[in-house]
Amino acid sequence: MTATDLKRLEVWFITGSQHLYGEETLREVAKHSTAIAKSLNEQPNVTVKSVFQPVVNSTDEVYNLCLEANTARNCIGIITWMHTFSPAKMWINGLKILHKPLCHLHTQFNRDIPWDTIDMDFMNTNQSAHGDREFGFIMSRLRLDRKVVVGHWQDKNVVGQIAGWTRAAIGWYDWQGARFVRFGDNMRYVAVTDGDKVEAELKFGYSVNTHGIGDLVKMINDARDNAITKLCDEYAERYNLVTSLKKGNPQHQSLREAARIELGLRRFLKEGNYKGFTDTFEDLHGMVQLPGLPVQRLMNDGYGFGGEGDWKTAALVRVMKTMATGLPGGNSFMEDYTYHFEPGSEMVLGSHMLEICSSIADGKPSCEIHPLGIGGKADPVRLVFNVAGGHALNASIVDMGNRFRLLVNEVTAVKPKNKLPKLPVARVLWKPLPDMQTGCAAWILAGGAHHTCYSQNLSAELLQDFADIAGIECIHINKQTTLSQLKNELRWNEVYYK
Ligand code: MN
Repeated sequence: MTATDLKRLEVWFITGSQHLYGEETLREVAKHSTAIAKSLNEQPNVTVKSVFQPVVNSTDEVYNLCLEANTARNCIGIITWMHTFSPAKMWINGLKILHKPLCHLHTQFNRDIPWDTIDMDFMNTNQSAHGDREFGFIMSRLRLDRKVVVGHWQDKNVVGQIAGWTRAAIGWYDWQGARFVRFGDNMRYVAVTDGDKVEAELKFGYSVNTHGIGDLVKMINDARDNAITKLCDEYAERYNLVTSLKKGNPQHQSLREAARIELGLRRFLKEGNYKGFTDTFEDLHGMVQLPGLPVQRLMNDGYGFGGEGDWKTAALVRVMKTMATGLPGGNSFMEDYTYHFEPGSEMVLGSHMLEICSSIADGKPSCEIHPLGIGGKADPVRLVFNVAGGHALNASIVDMGNRFRLLVNEVTAVKPKNKLPKLPVARVLWKPLPDMQTGCAAWILAGGAHHTCYSQNLSAELLQDFADIAGIECIHINKQTTLSQLKNELRWNEVYYK
């Protein structure tokens, strides 16, 4: 999804009041709401349109607006605010049918109390402090998950929280009706990558279906020679090609083979309207190489991917990329690969056999060819690069049988000090928070997968918002995490989700 696509989407700004106050007050309420909706619309980090809706003052008006929001294709969520008191029984029928994400903005039009002029007129018009509590009660009484943002509407942090929630709503919108394709099934005998695809469609709105690898191979074989040549030129321009892959050199044919695979994959995904895919090296019949470079590039263009049939991670990678549209940094399929247990500097080396997205590359990737120990295919072409240091996170969705769990671990990425001359794959080094022992133990106790989406630009708060919209469990491992508290949280959640 591009930034332009996002500007087609809308969040509706809905203000509640009541007729009791009279026409003049309601006009002022509408004027203030218009100003807030307009201001949100002008914030560069709020990536969708913010649309003012007429102030609602009765059960019918609330119900009709919720009904409209449900069916409006471009409406990805609503932001509510009670400028005055708005008796909340009038919200029950509307909220009962609302299917769109909701953010409750607990704000007030004026930032400061006008000390010298404040009178009872002012008090009667500016009642968010108690009006929003009445609204909050009915939301809690209805057991509705929602985002609550508190503070003045022009405050940078308030706008930032709304912008984050809006991105979460964009992600949810992106998943509804999304299609993911698996080439071949799950890697044999692997547990965590498997799961209930029917329940996922019911809960998340996306579908996952399998195609035999032959359907893809046909499109790969159909790729035209001139298109392959053109794509190889693009590779030469965008990456540092090792000499053996360059035109006229012995392994250039392998580069052409990678280009052929990319063209076939792209066509398959485009024609099937898929937002992501999985493959497995146990099922590559008719393919010359395991796709490395093509997968790295497709991810860079916004497609989700999961290795070994991991459709949950493919869908997660896709949605995280969509939620991060326009932000600096990237999101990639990732795997906790191997450990560095040096006392005081413990860290994880994250990588995969090949498929790390070039959106997280630090500098221009090198395009190389090396043998692959497993799969029994020709040497695959891949991009090799390091990843910058800084704050990042890993996220994973696991199927707990009776529910899905989103697991987030904040990490500190570390720029590699060593050259790693013999490691022929893209790699990341990170230190899990709060520390290696606690972070890894917490992840394992929570059943987190070895596959994740590694993100440089999404916050844990945004992912929590996303989990709330999806109505799933979210376990957040961060600098405050202790194992005793985490174990309790897992136990209590067992009861909550029964
Ligand atoms: Mn894997």
